[in-house]
Amino acid sequence: MKAIRRFSVRPVLPEPLRPLSDLAHNLRWSWHPETRELFRAVDPDGWRASGGDPVRVLGAVSARRLAELSGDGGFRRRLAAAADDLRAYLTEPRWYQRAEGELPAAVAYFSPEFGITAALPQYSGGLGILAGDHLKAASDLGAPLIGVGLLYRHGYFRQGLSRDGWQQEHYPVLDPNEMPLELLRADGGTPVRVELRLPGGRLLRAHVWQARVGRVPLLLLDSHVEENAPRERDVTDRLYGGGSEHRLLQEMLLGIGGVRAVRAYCRLTGHPEPEVFHTNEGHAGFLGLERIRELGERGASFGTALEAVRAGTVFTTHTPVPAGIDRFDRALVARHFGDDGELPGVDVERVLELGTETYPGGDGGVFNMAVMGLRLAQRANGVSTLHGSVSREMFAGLWPGFDAAEVPITSVTNGVHAPTWTAGEVSALRPGTGDAGLWELRRTLRGQLVEEVRRRLYDSWRQRGASPAELGWIDGVLDPEVLTVGFARRVPSYKRLTLMLRDRERLTELLLHPTRPVQLVVAGKAHPADDGGKRLIQELVRFADDPRVRHRIVFLPDYGMAMAQRLYTGCDVWLNNPLRPLEACGTSGMKAALNGCLNLSVRDGWWDEWYEPDFGWAIPTADGGGPAGESPEDRERRDDMEAAALYELLREHVAPCFYDRGPAGTGLPERWIAMVRQTLERLGPRVPADRMVREYVERLYVPAAHAHRALDTRTAERLAGWKARVRAAWPRVAVDHVETVCESVELGGALALRVRVALGDLEPGDVEVQAVAGRVDESDSIADADAVRVPLKPSGGPEEDGSWLYEGPLTLDRTGPFGYTVRVLPAHPLLAGPAEMGLVTLPPETPEAGEAAGVLMR
Ligand SMILES: *Cc1c(COP(=O)(O)O)cnc(C)c1O
Repeated sequence: MKAIRRFSVRPVLPEPLRPLSDLAHNLRWSWHPETRELFRAVDPDGWRASGGDPVRVLGAVSARRLAELSGDGGFRRRLAAAADDLRAYLTEPRWYQRAEGELPAAVAYFSPEFGITAALPQYSGGLGILAGDHLKAASDLGAPLIGVGLLYRHGYFRQGLSRDGWQQEHYPVLDPNEMPLELLRADGGTPVRVELRLPGGRLLRAHVWQARVGRVPLLLLDSHVEENAPRERDVTDRLYGGGSEHRLLQEMLLGIGGVRAVRAYCRLTGHPEPEVFHTNEGHAGFLGLERIRELGERGASFGTALEAVRAGTVFTTHTPVPAGIDRFDRALVARHFGDDGELPGVDVERVLELGTETYPGGDGGVFNMAVMGLRLAQRANGVSTLHGSVSREMFAGLWPGFDAAEVPITSVTNGVHAPTWTAGEVSALRPGTGDAGLWELRRTLRGQLVEEVRRRLYDSWRQRGASPAELGWIDGVLDPEVLTVGFARRVPSYKRLTLMLRDRERLTELLLHPTRPVQLVVAGKAHPADDGGKRLIQELVRFADDPRVRHRIVFLPDYGMAMAQRLYTGCDVWLNNPLRPLEACGTSGMKAALNGCLNLSVRDGWWDEWYEPDFGWAIPTADGGGPAGESPEDRERRDDMEAAALYELLREHVAPCFYDRGPAGTGLPERWIAMVRQTLERLGPRVPADRMVREYVERLYVPAAHAHRALDTRTAERLAGWKARVRAAWPRVAVDHVETVCESVELGGALALRVRVALGDLEPGDVEVQAVAGRVDESDSIADADAVRVPLKPSGGPEEDGSWLYEGPLTLDRTGPFGYTVRVLPAHPLLAGPAEMGLVTLPPETPEAGEAAGVLMR
């Protein structure tokens, strides 16, 4: 019988055990082993059954057991110590409190998903896990973040397999009362409610749940409230489900509702208001529109509000894959932001302009969330050095006239939260541990993984319909002494789950090699609407089902954080073979590295930046060089080449290194152990998320907070007015003439430049006239990397024809082919950089202007 209503009965803890409730409701337990041990001690069976979830343990433990623990002095002492430790963690000054400078009072961090623990399954993959790691590291550093997201009633799906290997999706009901969440309530106790107006007079209402991530509150909006009509109730039903209108409503709730939730939270708790809003990918971009509306209510025009909002907004782009970018039909957006929809005070035409793809090849009919993200944020970044440069190329069309290198998108390489992702055994390693000790540790972790794999594989086969009697072979799956390679991630096509199957014979030889076998553990979920991805999974499952190889290759369904924590620690090698450069960063390999697992990867994302032969192997790539599509034949050829390189590396380098047990008869793979040690000691310290969060604070949050403070309404109004004036006047700005007086073309000499520019209605104070000089290639392009930009000084004007003279010396500080040009840029102290407005004037490209375009000296 199906229940018509569900609720949960909260446990009443005896007085001495009260602190257990606080410990369970602060997710710091998820990265604090002592607290987890405490909950395991409360009820070892309940702990196992709940998958390690303190709230569930407390919900299920018997009153008798609680009474017993109340009388257990040893337990009470441990409890008191854990409670004290949490209190100290939450109140002590940390890095942020000691940092110099005027730091932001608070930063709101918006993300469509957050992966904090398996007990709060609100993530689908890397983006969400990164957001979780960002909050945890912020908490460890004492950075005053407020996380903002949605509470999905079914989370992402749980993955199973049919008998023939087809992905099956299940959507469990998640009851917030059984999760580490509390409803945000107003003073009188009534739940805080956020409301959005939808077309046709509908209302979308949401409650706000709060999770505590150490020191950081995470607010999750939930549309599953009684007063909503069924359609609106289902807005937060599942992560990345539904059609585009459903997605739009989710993103409106996240962005607009999220700002309203933050305001309510700050009002109720006295938390300082955020000075910076950070949007993790474009999905939350509407938060900027809500803040424009707020300022509009206080009298600011759209343009003024836009400047004020941009100053305090940071946008992080996460993907160079077009399918990863949210694009909506313009008409759909227009309907939801028109007079009949949300933000009635905000001009819908201005809203639409923000999301318009104005670059060549852009589609006039769509509203692009990443484009809006870039226009609403004065500061933007990609997530690895390579991805930063790919993003600058990809979005260069929004800054016409600028070289990609000057596109104002920087990069902060992702990091991972070390306490979450490092095995206890690895954290406990002592500095002087010898080779034998290190190898023993790797064997222990591999052994644990083998046990876990057998357990999961058994469950999977039972669910696929096999009877226990058929499954005796599972006891022989994987060998704790065999080189173990892991590959687990979402299954979009660029990640190439099945590259390893390209030549099945060669793969089989590797798996069944008589003396140097390799074993593979594979996992990953395909998006429910992605049948192509599901076919790849099926291909892999069918291969792994073959009795000839099934003891050496397994596919484990339902990849998630709990499984990931075992995989990264237990594997010897972490494999990643994306189509370069489509993996923006990738973080699983970093988590593996924290545990001394070596990486075997295409040089993409973070591995392009930090690869060293001491840390693993680089799979050579036939990379075409950019995210632009290649022909299907090229793609096939590339897959063939890269797969062949992968087999070759495994057979000729990875396996021999692993199985070479030394001449001295120590039985130890000395070279391998040396690489493990290098990975732990030199790569390990680079990957943690606290390094990443510190970079965000120093390079993005602090400048954004300062810009935000500088732009009070009056200043913002002046800046908006100035920008409008400059934009209108720009078509009449021109470089009329360039003269060079060249004394000697020798190293150390100088050119004297004299430039005449027309500024139309602008004044010299509105612009900067620059010489750009550097090495030139065969086509006379100045190389980005070593270009110097020298401001020229106004020396006279206006002449009768209205033009102005600029002068300056250009030092010849390098030998070889050298060239220069000049350009005019808007200049204002409140611009974050020269390209901000996307306006630049260069000398005309005519033959007689040859001189103006640069003197060449060879
Ligand atoms: C780290 C992690 C990811 C992201 O890994 P990538 O290397 O970026 O693909 C995905 N899922 C889970 C469960 C993770 O822990």
